[in-house]
Amino acid sequence: MLENLLFPEIKETPESIIAKYPRREKWTVVTRIAPSPTWFLHIWAVYSAMLDKIIAHKNAWVFFLRIEDTDQKREVEWASEKFVDIFKIFWLNFDEGPVWENYIDVWNYWPYTQSKREYIYKVFLKDLIKKGLAYPCFLTEDELNETRAIQEASKVAIWVYKEYSPWRYASIDDVKKALSENKSFVIRLRSSWEITKKIDVKDIIKWNITTQENFLDIVLCKATGIPTYHFAHLIDDYLMGTTLVIRWDEWFASLPLHLELFSMMWWEAPQYAHYWPLVKIDWEGKRKLSKRKDLEADVEFYFREWYTVEWIIDFLSNIINSSFEDWRKQNPHLSYLDFDFKLEKVNTAGALVDIDKLNWVNSSVIKNMDTDLLYDKLISYLEKYDNEYLNIISKFPLEYNKKIVNELKTKIRKFNEFKENSFFFYEDSKLPNEELLVNTKMKIDSIDVVKKALEISLDLLISKWVDFQSIDEVKTAFVEKIIEAEMKNWQVLWPVRCALSWEEFSPGALEMVYILWVKESTIRLQKVLKTLK
Ligand code: GLU
Repeated sequence: MLENLLFPEIKETPESIIAKYPRREKWTVVTRIAPSPTWFLHIWAVYSAMLDKIIAHKNAWVFFLRIEDTDQKREVEWASEKFVDIFKIFWLNFDEGPVWENYIDVWNYWPYTQSKREYIYKVFLKDLIKKGLAYPCFLTEDELNETRAIQEASKVAIWVYKEYSPWRYASIDDVKKALSENKSFVIRLRSSWEITKKIDVKDIIKWNITTQENFLDIVLCKATGIPTYHFAHLIDDYLMGTTLVIRWDEWFASLPLHLELFSMMWWEAPQYAHYWPLVKIDWEGKRKLSKRKDLEADVEFYFREWYTVEWIIDFLSNIINSSFEDWRKQNPHLSYLDFDFKLEKVNTAGALVDIDKLNWVNSSVIKNMDTDLLYDKLISYLEKYDNEYLNIISKFPLEYNKKIVNELKTKIRKFNEFKENSFFFYEDSKLPNEELLVNTKMKIDSIDVVKKALEISLDLLISKWVDFQSIDEVKTAFVEKIIEAEMKNWQVLWPVRCALSWEEFSPGALEMVYILWVKESTIRLQKVLKTLK
């Protein structure tokens, strides 16, 4: 028999496999996230997992993780482990999946990694072949191209189906001959649905749509012996008892096929909810976020730039249901899971990843965070992404570093801006350009004004010689001195700021003096003044 010819090593039957996967309680709703470890973790995988989590949490249902690693050519080493770690950072805890210590499976619907389930898929493939619902196809690349050319010429649908699939009608002897010639083959579905018929598909997000039935003999198992996503997800979602599949829009076109596969097995299909692609706006206009060209498609981008996890979650929640934003304003301290999300109301038009908005809100998270907590977060960030800078700042007193963090709270939008806004606190001072010091807009039209400004400031610092207790104290002292010297505030503060930070942009002069302390400020001002003599 054909099935024994193709799968002589498979002894088990679908019934014996199904018996190992106990049916879940009828009322249990089971959702899952099933990423493929072929690249970095996409932001929409987190988005999708949040949708699952929201549904699961709301109803005390089951939420599991399955790793879909059937595309071994594109697989990236350690990606699955990284995915698990990232989901944990987002507090997306799974009830089941490879999520125990050392990525061991939790719960008894295992294995939750598709590459470990090849045997199971083969058992079902063998059975489908036995029942005539699938068949081996030995068409070569050239033959497929010829078929395509014929179909194009006769203006019919392109692909392998019905009369355009010679191996659909092959005898067992034809198969034996091809096998003896060592020809490679795939296993195709023998679709019984019709090109002319329509099917009503139900989708929780997109609502009901009438579309064409699947009629294509799609590949269930590749020539490598590895199943395609279509087939693997069918078997897995059935055995694992998935009742709700939330996945991205790209799979919507395959829904008629998936419904045919479930009906062919006499299994009840899960409910589907396809969410709209995340989009961004750039010079090309509004377009789908691309995993190839957009840095912000990668979840780690947000970590590298340091956006707070709390805010990324809120940001995505708002993409899920736009009314979240108002709710958040009224409930700043509640978990996003307390919001009454509605799948039917998932944002269809505005699934926009708006980095400007993200920056704006992230900066307010930073501004309002307790300085000690912010400092701890900064240190963990540097440990991961900029050890060199961490080594530099670690050589300075804690109090000094915290003063800087406190000052920069209102200036930075994310941690990757910390270094560019703080390096002048840690480096040996440099001499600013004369063009920077002389600034006609601020009525500093000659180097003599600069000199006078630095001299009166030095005078003030030397006569004080104990540190200021607050920025206000620095301010009062400077204002007094400036009035006494009959100068304008900016005529003094601009040169002092430039002499202390040698940069066009930095915190103001008073803040710089307060942070650097009197001694270091004096040294820096003296150094600059010397060069001006
Ligand atoms: N592995 C598929 C993907 O990453 C999962 C689709 C699904 O959730 O069924 O697109």
